[in-house]
Amino acid sequence: MKRAMFFLDQKDMPTHWYNIQADLPEPLPPVLHPGTKQPITPDDLAPLFPMELIKQEVSTERWIEIPEELQDVYRTWRPTVLHRAYRLEKALDTPAKIFYKYEGTNQAGSHKPNTATAQCYYNMKEGIKRLTTETGAGQWGSALAMSGAFFDVEIKVYMVRISYDQKPYRRIAMETWGATCIPSPSTETKAGRDMLEKWPDCPGSLGLAISEAVEECVSRDDTHYTLGSVLNHVLLHQTIIGEETRKQMEMADAYPDIIVGNTGGGSNYAGQFLPWIRDKISGEKPDLRIICVEPESCPTLTRGLYAYDFGDAVGMTPLLKMHTLGHGFIPPPVHAGGLRYHGMAPIICHLLELGLVEAVAEHQTGTFEAGVKFARTEGIITGPEPCHNVKVASDEALKCKESGEAKTILIAHSGHGHFDLAAYDKYLSGELVDYAFPEEDIKKALADLPKVPEA
Ligand SMILES: *Cc1c(COP(=O)(O)O)cnc(C)c1O
Repeated sequence: MKRAMFFLDQKDMPTHWYNIQADLPEPLPPVLHPGTKQPITPDDLAPLFPMELIKQEVSTERWIEIPEELQDVYRTWRPTVLHRAYRLEKALDTPAKIFYKYEGTNQAGSHKPNTATAQCYYNMKEGIKRLTTETGAGQWGSALAMSGAFFDVEIKVYMVRISYDQKPYRRIAMETWGATCIPSPSTETKAGRDMLEKWPDCPGSLGLAISEAVEECVSRDDTHYTLGSVLNHVLLHQTIIGEETRKQMEMADAYPDIIVGNTGGGSNYAGQFLPWIRDKISGEKPDLRIICVEPESCPTLTRGLYAYDFGDAVGMTPLLKMHTLGHGFIPPPVHAGGLRYHGMAPIICHLLELGLVEAVAEHQTGTFEAGVKFARTEGIITGPEPCHNVKVASDEALKCKESGEAKTILIAHSGHGHFDLAAYDKYLSGELVDYAFPEEDIKKALADLPKVPEA
């Protein structure tokens, strides 16, 4: 019998998140205050986040317990299934064994509820009744809107203008879950008004939407801010994905040679690979390859600078040491998928610097081609973001065909593409074009990096 799905029982769902900060060979660079450029303190972050999340952000405890009440919510969709992609393997005619852990089966359709529910839970516990956030393609806004409904927290979402116009169904989903969603730049904040004055048709960017959400948050006592990626506590919450996968790969009697994932802000992929990278750090699995895949049109890890930068466009957030395209980066509107943030999770950047992970960039037509092959073999219509890793995993499987090696490849599949059919339509009708971000534009975007004192 060919076993194509590996199920974990609900009682075997992991009860702890894994914190990589316990096992890093060198600690992360400090986060700096945007004004003083000195390391930030928990008090600096208190207007934005509940204390429990601030503690998680800097914790070096290896295992952090998932609260029971949150576990109950996780169990409305977890554990998710690990699949063996026999049909894709056959189509590629490869000896490689391809597995994928699929996070698209929950109510909102991506990995993001793993942290959205956690963030709502901790805010609710500390008496916060309202949360602001930004969303790009709308996945994060959807996940948070649903989580707000679960924990009775009001949600206000600033949605990047171009997506707001192009993806009305995401907005309607958010409103159905009870959230308010407005396009960014908006007239509701100074950051938004300033931009509209300069550029009335501005398509928006994640960085600018973050500025708006943070500005509204700090102007009100009853409101906190949430971020769907990048920060350490967000990556921490996602590690339940990799912890489940470890158990499931054991059921499949397999261990990955290569793990492939897409990196927008880095959260879904880190959630999968952090629980494995500890075997590489410990020396037990020195040859494990971890490949981060990003778009050529937003090449943060492959072409960005490793430097201190703001998380938002205006310069209100703390300074993070990360690979960045500059906080003024506005992604090209020709790009169809997600993964359009100027920065990247500091944990992933640090691991890249330490040589523990690799990064590659892919053009969008190739990623959709791989996504269509995946749909026609495995059946799943893949989100534009995980199409990037399906592409790289397929290429690695084809290399195995050349070399005759039966490598085990694990795909971190972050969600479905049911709200991205317009992008598939463009691809199928031949209208999608490739676009590499021009070097001059990257230089321009990097020109106004904040100056920080040498550490
Ligand atoms: C948001 C999103 C991403 C990118 O964000 P990360 O923080 O890098 O995970 C990738 N895939 C899907 C389906 C998403 O919704």
